[in-house]
Amino acid sequence: MSAILRVALPLPLPGLFDYLAEDAVAVGCRVRVPFARRRLVGIVVEQCDHSEAPDRLRPIEAVLDAEPVLAGELLATLRWAARYYQHALGEVLFAALPALLRRGAPPARASAGGWQLTPLGRAALADPQRRRGTRLDALLAALAGQPLAAAAARDLGGAAALRTAVHRGWVEAAAAVAPGAPTTAVRALHPEQQAAVAAVLASAGHATFLLDGVTGSGKTEVYLAIARAAIARGRQVLVLVPEIALTPQAIRRFRAGIGVDVAVLHSGLGEVERARAWQAAADGSAQLLLGTRSAILVPLARAGAIIVDEEHDSSYKQHEGFRYHARDLAVVRARALGVPLVLGSATPSLESLANVAAGRYRALRLTQRAGGAEPPTMQLLDLRHQRLHHGLAAPALAEIEACLARGEQVLVFRNRRGYAPVLLCHDCGWNARCDACDRALTLHRHARVLRCHHCGAQQRMPSACPACGGLALHALGEGTERLEEALAARFAQVPIVRIDRDSTRGRRTREALLESLDRPGARLLVGTQMLAKGHDLARLTLVVVVGVDEALYSVDFRATERLAQLIVQVAGRAGRAQHAGRVLLQTHDPGHGLLRALIERGYAAVAQELLAERQAAMLPPYTQLALLRAESSDERQLHGFLCAAVAAAPGGHEVSLQGPLAAPMPRRAGAQRGQVVVESARRQTLQAFLDAWLPAVRALPQPRTLRWSIDVDPIDLY
Ligand code: ADP
Ligand code: ZN
Ligand code: ZN
Repeated sequence: MSAILRVALPLPLPGLFDYLAEDAVAVGCRVRVPFARRRLVGIVVEQCDHSEAPDRLRPIEAVLDAEPVLAGELLATLRWAARYYQHALGEVLFAALPALLRRGAPPARASAGGWQLTPLGRAALADPQRRRGTRLDALLAALAGQPLAAAAARDLGGAAALRTAVHRGWVEAAAAVAPGAPTTAVRALHPEQQAAVAAVLASAGHATFLLDGVTGSGKTEVYLAIARAAIARGRQVLVLVPEIALTPQAIRRFRAGIGVDVAVLHSGLGEVERARAWQAAADGSAQLLLGTRSAILVPLARAGAIIVDEEHDSSYKQHEGFRYHARDLAVVRARALGVPLVLGSATPSLESLANVAAGRYRALRLTQRAGGAEPPTMQLLDLRHQRLHHGLAAPALAEIEACLARGEQVLVFRNRRGYAPVLLCHDCGWNARCDACDRALTLHRHARVLRCHHCGAQQRMPSACPACGGLALHALGEGTERLEEALAARFAQVPIVRIDRDSTRGRRTREALLESLDRPGARLLVGTQMLAKGHDLARLTLVVVVGVDEALYSVDFRATERLAQLIVQVAGRAGRAQHAGRVLLQTHDPGHGLLRALIERGYAAVAQELLAERQAAMLPPYTQLALLRAESSDERQLHGFLCAAVAAAPGGHEVSLQGPLAAPMPRRAGAQRGQVVVESARRQTLQAFLDAWLPAVRALPQPRTLRWSIDVDPIDLY
């Protein structure tokens, strides 16, 4: 009996593609199909018995799965997300699969927990017809007595035999082993922590909690207690962290604090490792999953709780292709799974605070630092009239020196990598610019190159001015590389560690560097926002923030929120143990309202003010936005397309369109960029409008030079 399959393909095209199959194939299984002159892996999304053009249908070439790789709640959430984010379903579904599965490889049924025989497997073992003496046979025989740990089963049977056994339904992941004993003593929680844990554990089914706890208040201990309870009930816990660099520390704390293996999911892992962790999540053998943004797309066989640490962090938003927000998807998934969601931060996003105010999330507060540590004191350091030594003022240097002399750690924070953001000719005024982006090139002196931080273009560092031939080239301003050099020269006897995207390329380098942060003794740390997040640096007592002012004058309406979060987060690295911490903010604008409010009244007060401003200006979270972005090497075509898109907007929806507008960065990598902003008071209104508008936009003439995309709930102007 033949069937018609509606298949999602990993193409940036809306809609599904119909194929013929001899037998029915379950929804969520992968198939190999011909497409134009290629063969693609696709995912069956629907079965039907009719097609608009039945005689032109091509047959599928192969069915790749006996069981769906995407099913149930996850498949439903992904379908919802494709519609909400207005992105091609095939690309959304493929974003949720590990690369090996995307390419058609069989699922890596290598479970972290272990394997046991199924009733079918027992029958097979007893079947006299079955071939003896094979590795498969050896595997079944060994499993007859008791479940085997994953590694032992693999050694015995080999991966292929194991796969076959799982595929035939003879072997399944062993039921969750009870959590082992934590290897660190479980801490007695302080009363605020206890109240937070109790509130989450008391929630029957789904609820979203905002764990709003100052830096060092013991949020991680709260996550541990919640995870421990869920795992003890035989459930899985998914933990998201914002940054790969934070995973080793988080893995250590969760592994030691709960006593279970942690299945890790992030882009820095090898394909086989990722496929294995994904499988362990899907078959339920992994008890604790920990990962960055994309881990929110992992299947959960028996979910018990989802935790999103540093929920305010913008790295949870995917910036290209399927532009989802992992925190927002976490809300959708936790609701569908009927489990509690904990969003934790010392500096909650305005979105989450507004959700608390509206009664959608429940706030749990940790107002004190744990273990008797004092909150850091923040002070503005007025740079006016000061002589600067590579960007550092004399009082800052004096404090650094005193701290190091006491054997403590100092962090110099500068959110800009490279040596200097500008290279200027003192004779003729030439400065190094990226032609493709119209922006200054950053000098990387150690690598002897000029690099564009927007498009990645790179050129050799000139030894003379390309315009006048003069030799008076000056590096203006400072990045982390320069600060490192200046501090190393001044404090030659003190070890110095620089943490930024340049210094941490490669997993081993990164882990070794982060490891070295925690050694005893005086130490200087120089770093970008990579160091501002989450790290627990027990010996750090002084933080000097360089370059605060640049962020005060950004055009993005979220810039002030981000700056406040960044300052509080980086300040929070200081004084987490016995010694009090001190934070110096170097600024030329010590009267600035935001800076004053932050040091005098703290983040919560600033956030309430920013929320009031957003409400008055009708900006998110009080209004819903979508951006239609386009770029083209031809400015006329760009403008023509955006005008046509605005003209194609259907009437009758309560939305407002602004544009075509130049993008805040109007030129990048050689392309002109423009956008149309769509705004509405309500999500559903915006969605209904996009559903009607985007097909019309797709139907417009699309010049070959033009690329466009839609970003729902954008967090950056572009
Ligand atoms: P956060 O995640 O909120 O920044 P952590 O969970 O990392 O805070 O805790 C900060 C520090 O306080 C850590 O060194 C942690 O071990 C310690 N700590 C947390 N809770 C307690 C507690 N109840 N008693 C003693 N120390 C604690
Ligand atoms: Zn010159
Ligand atoms: Zn560039």
